[in-house]
Amino acid sequence: MAVKITDTCINCGACIDECPVEAIVDDSDNPTGEEIYYVYPDKCVECVDYADCPLCAEACPTEGCIVWDECKEGQPCHPNRGEVGEPVMDAC
Ligand code: SF4
Ligand code: SF4
Repeated sequence: MAVKITDTCINCGACIDECPVEAIVDDSDNPTGEEIYYVYPDKCVECVDYADCPLCAEACPTEGCIVWDECKEGQPCHPNRGEVGEPVMDAC
């Protein structure tokens, strides 16, 4: 279903243009009101069919900032995904 950006995000912007499906918005558009970047879970495809590893997490300079969220039935889920809350890059 999705990856999630956590509160260690430094708003650097490195991830946003990497997303092939435009699932990421910046802090000013974050629907939760938090001052960090945000991934729309209904848009994120975990980069399945685009890359071996989620491209946002590869681009992110903040270690462990982007983690796995729930994998929802009916949406692409990365074959090597870790548990919810684990850093995405641990699986890559
Ligand atoms: S995992 Fe891929 S599809 Fe999901 S937000 Fe990151 S770059 Fe976009
Ligand atoms: S690359 Fe990482 S630290 Fe930079 S805006 Fe994206 S999630 Fe935040």
